Amino acid sequence: MTKKSLIAGTVAFLSFALAASASGQTKPVATPLPETALAKIADADRIAGDDMLLRAMRNYHCYYVDPVPAPFRPSVMETTDFLFGTKILDNVYYLGYLNLAAYAIRTSEGLVLVDAGGSEAHGRAILDWMTKAGFEPGDLKYIIVTHEHFDHFAGAPLLKAATGAKIVAGADAPFGDGKLSFPESMRPLDAAVKGRMTLKLGKTDIVLLPTPGHTKGTISVFAPVEANGRRHMASFWGGKGMRPNAASIREMIHSLATFTAESEKLKVDVPLNTHSWGDATIPRIIDEILVPSRPNPFVLSEDQSRRNLQILERCTSAYLDAVESSAITKGLRD
Ligand SMILES: [Zn+2]
Repeated sequence: MTKKSLIAGTVAFLSFALAASASGQTKPVATPLPETALAKIADADRIAGDDMLLRAMRNYHCYYVDPVPAPFRPSVMETTDFLFGTKILDNVYYLGYLNLAAYAIRTSEGLVLVDAGGSEAHGRAILDWMTKAGFEPGDLKYIIVTHEHFDHFAGAPLLKAATGAKIVAGADAPFGDGKLSFPESMRPLDAAVKGRMTLKLGKTDIVLLPTPGHTKGTISVFAPVEANGRRHMASFWGGKGMRPNAASIREMIHSLATFTAESEKLKVDVPLNTHSWGDATIPRIIDEILVPSRPNPFVLSEDQSRRNLQILERCTSAYLDAVESSAITKGLRD
């Protein structure tokens, strides 16, 4: 660098600094993450190792606390047609877009939905898919809503009116204006999950477990699924978005222990996700479409299943450390 350009650069820097301070817009320096959080994130990295899928899941689980800037991710309201209705397992259909999905699970006695879409239009798209896929409206028996945020329930009233399906959700979810609560119009729920319960549909047992933390009414879902004619067990961790509230994150960590114990008991090897961008759901669906002969990408090995839950625990616990030390105050890491 020449002397002249160095001076010019210094002047430019000074005038920027002055302008920033004059307008009061100087960005505060972020409080560093505490050592304990950094150690847990490093541990998550170590557990993921070289496994590309686990590394994607590590990025997803640690999204809220990651010191590395989060990559671009699509809005939950962005709609796309090209994946909607894709059969991702023998009896599971992906009813969603790039970062928000409902899933239909087919049983001998009809369909069960996990979540209902983020808008009435999404609910209608699910109904249209049912017709195209050869289902009658009455084939939809249950709509399981994982929690009381609109992107998970907004299609439910329309679907219930059109099909007569029963709505199942957490008993502790509040009712109110329908943004961070179920709308009053959804009252009463057809089944309110208070403790661990089993939803029976023909030969299919679906286990529902209250897992508060993300919200009061969050529930997690465990459902038997099939891939290439073989039986597996799917899980949906009800709500994973983290907020800078230590009490709710402590509750989430407690719920995660219950969820992990249930996952081990039921031998879960297909962790599915309604926010589908982060954990490589979308690339895995595309892989499956392009190379149908390869093993189903949604089925994890026993080792991967265990490590995935360990990573989720480390990331959630790191987030709690960051909140307790005030390194995170606004939700996401700066
Ligand atoms: Zn939510």
